[in-house]
Amino acid sequence: MNAASNITAPSWDHCGQGVTAADLVGCRGIRVGSDGRCLAHLPDSDPVAYLAALAPGSDLDLRGATIDETLLSSIRAACTDRSTTNPRFGRTDFTESTFTGDARFYSATFTGDAKFESATFTGDAKFESATFTGDAEFHAVDFTGRAEFDSPTSRSPVA
Ligand SMILES: [Zn+2]
Repeated sequence: MNAASNITAPSWDHCGQGVTAADLVGCRGIRVGSDGRCLAHLPDSDPVAYLAALAPGSDLDLRGATIDETLLSSIRAACTDRSTTNPRFGRTDFTESTFTGDARFYSATFTGDAKFESATFTGDAKFESATFTGDAEFHAVDFTGRAEFDSPTSRSPVA
């Protein structure tokens, strides 16, 4: 995102890392934990605490956050259901999130609404065999790499 388009703060409490005279908003990632930073900008020990609090079926609210492959793998592992060996998420909100590297959501089950509105995928977006039981919103998504949705299961219309 260039500085010119980053002049309006998002609607959520955002991280703000990297504010300069040319970028008055800074990092748009939603705050997690207690120190006011997004998941990507927490001090080293804090992502561990965030991840430790996740379990299969957890809700994820990572609006505006930058999520790299390593972080997403950790989230995926933390939410993996031992009985199915696949991740299960509750309500997820990745509005304006940026996935750097491949986003591996294959075989995941989303039991709540899954929002990916205006998300950016810089690598491949892998949603093969994903199950959406709520609404799945992929409005205005920017796919740079391949977007794989082979045999997804949706029980409501995909917007
Ligand atoms: Zn941040």
